Parts: sequence; structure tokens; C-alpha cells
Amino acid sequence: MSDLSFRSHAPGYWPHEAMPQWREVRWQLRNRVDSLADLEARLKLSDIERAGVLLAGSKLAMSITPHFFNLIDRQDPECPIRRQVIPRIEEGWTAPEELTDPCGEDSHMPVPGLVHRYPDRVLFLVTDRCASYCRYCTRSRVVSGVGEQHLETQWEAAFKYLERTPQVRDVLLSGGDPLLFSDERLDRILTRLRAIPHIQFIRIGTRIPIFLPQRITPELCAVLKKHHPLFMSIHTNHPRELTAEAREALGLLAEAGIPLGNQSVLLRGVNDSVEVQKALVHKLLMCRVRPYYLYQCDLINGSSHLRTSVAEGIAIIDGLRGHTTGYAIPQFVIDGPGGGGKIPLNPQYIIDTAPGKVTLRNYEGEVFEYPDPVPMPATVLARLHAHGCQPQGG
Ligand SMILES: *Cc1c(COP(=O)(O)O)cnc(C)c1O
Repeated sequence: MSDLSFRSHAPGYWPHEAMPQWREVRWQLRNRVDSLADLEARLKLSDIERAGVLLAGSKLAMSITPHFFNLIDRQDPECPIRRQVIPRIEEGWTAPEELTDPCGEDSHMPVPGLVHRYPDRVLFLVTDRCASYCRYCTRSRVVSGVGEQHLETQWEAAFKYLERTPQVRDVLLSGGDPLLFSDERLDRILTRLRAIPHIQFIRIGTRIPIFLPQRITPELCAVLKKHHPLFMSIHTNHPRELTAEAREALGLLAEAGIPLGNQSVLLRGVNDSVEVQKALVHKLLMCRVRPYYLYQCDLINGSSHLRTSVAEGIAIIDGLRGHTTGYAIPQFVIDGPGGGGKIPLNPQYIIDTAPGKVTLRNYEGEVFEYPDPVPMPATVLARLHAHGCQPQGG
């Protein structure tokens, strides 16, 4: 039942659009679905969605590129694409455990826009805009420009901080989506970072290859490849997102020598089954993308309808490990609520530990014992010495 094909869905809901225009980044951005009228002109909404759209205007804007909108299955009210980008009234309820800043980023900013949580790497929030907005956005407090809080990246102060902080060897550009910047602007930012001798490794977190694959051009790749080693983390949640256009964009990036990883968020009704996750990771490998992290959904305000239990995530990893290619298996993590950083979660493969041995199970449930090494008996040692330390002696 899993569809592993890479289809184009164009022109889809825009049947009268000329294809050359469809392929323009500017056309895609200008024609984003961002109002109730736009949405209702194309889709029959439920009351739950209509109320959600009205609410979104003051919380996290709705905005969906035509490319991504086309992945919505008109026949399926529970469509996994729809749930990611069309607001629902449930967003208006803040569950008691939910937080405005679920990963505690604001308290780890030495400079506005720069999150320095781990000893050797920083998260650099370079913009508050994305091509489309995910309803479960971990940074919905600052992203999209309609909420109360605003991201005010202090560029010069951030570069100065990085220049005087030699323990930072890894810079992750994120936001918002850095690939919304022009090629020239990205080149200037990357050049400035590359001029700092202790910065060894740069990566970009982006959902552009999925929301707006038209943005990945040979010209952009030529800019990026000047700044190697540069890695990219993309964000894909459902196999349908890997369209013909996305595969082509990812191929261009891979050909530019950019190692590609994927980050998924585990979402109720979107990708909360082994079957969907397996199809996703298989399609990612076919696009030369290595699954990197599977995130337990952050405790973002208004996200309870999209969150699963932790046990469901562990069961998914259990259903992948050993059953398919090791390269296909992401690390399941929870970002510690309030600011603990990423904490890895794994199925329990150690059944028991006793002095000198561990009891393990494999992916099929078979049980194995692995004894720890024992000290070599003194008599054996003496005999080895007597034979000139030749291990075969005796
Ligand atoms: C995720 C994250 C990083 C990068 O973590 P890796 O495990 O190296 O991918 C760095 N800083 C912050 C604040 C993060 O949330």
C-alpha cells in the first residue's frame, strides 16, 4: 500500500496555470495559499479547520506554497499533508504541559538570534520566514511575523560573538528558512562565517527542498559548494512529500557534494506508523538523504492533537532497526522540555545486566548473552611468559 513513486503533482489545484510560471520561485511565493478565501476556493473545509484558519492570523500565519498544497488529497479529510499546514481549532487550546518556548532557546541566547546551548556548536536563527508554515512549528513564538514575539537577529553582534568564541566549531543556520535568502546574501553570510578560522563545520536546516524545490538551482548549488564542508538537514515527514521535483532538487544538492540528512517530527495522523515511516526512510535513501533525527513533537502551545506518546516513537524505531537498512534509521530524540537539548531514546535491547554479563535481545526477540572479558588467570600468564610471550605456547 505504500507508494514509493516520485510523482509530480503539478498543476493540481492550479489547472489553468502555465507551467513555465509554475516553476518560478517568485510565482510560487506570490501564489501561496494564505487566506481563508484562497483556501475555500480550492478545498472544502471542516468547521474545525475554518475556525483554525481564523485563529491562526494572530498566532502562526497560514501560508502554503502551491507546490506543497498540491500534495493534499481532496478526497481524504484526514490527509497527512493537510494536517501539517492547515490550522485546526485545537491550536487554540494550550494544554497544561505546553510551553511558548518548548526548547528553552530564548534563555540560551548570548546574542539575539544565536542559541548557544552545547559546548562546541551554535544554532543561528537567521530569519523568521519560511516558504510555508508547519502547524507544529517549535519556533511558532517568533516565526511568521504575526505573533507577539519577534525574532531580532543581531547580525554584527552574532558574528562578533562567534569570532571571539573559539570553542564554537559548528554553526547551524536555521530560522525560519535560510534558503529564502538570495544567493548573494547566503554567499555573504557563509563567506563571513568561513573567515572565522575555528569554524570547521557549517550546516543549513531547511524545508525548501520540500516546500519550494524550485529554489534549488544550479546557481544556488554553486554558491553553497564554495563553502564546504557544508551539510544540509532537510525536513520531511511523509513519503508523499518526496515528489519528482523534490528528488530533482535533492539530486542537485547531492551532486554539489552536500551531505544530506533528514529531520522528521513524529506527528499523530501524519507519520505515526511503522509502515509510513518505512516508506519515508526508503524514499529518502533513494533521494540520497540519510535519515538523521526523528523528533518527539515539542510541547508547543496548541499541539496536543498532533503529538503522540513517547512509546509510539520507540515502537517505530523497534519496527525499523534490523528490519531494514541501518542507514535508513533515524535517531529518535526528545528535546528536553524547557531546555535540556536533544536526548536520544532507544528501544530496550538490554534485558538484564548481571556481574560479568549482559542479556540482550535482537530485533526478532531472540535472546543472547554477552559475557564481559575475564582477567587472564595467573597460571596462563606465567605459561605465556615461559614461552617468550608467544600466545600459541601451550
Ligand atoms: C539541534 C541543535 C543543535 C545541533 O545538534 P546536533 O545534535 O549536533 O545536530 C545545536 N544547537 C541547538 C540549540 C539545537 O537545538
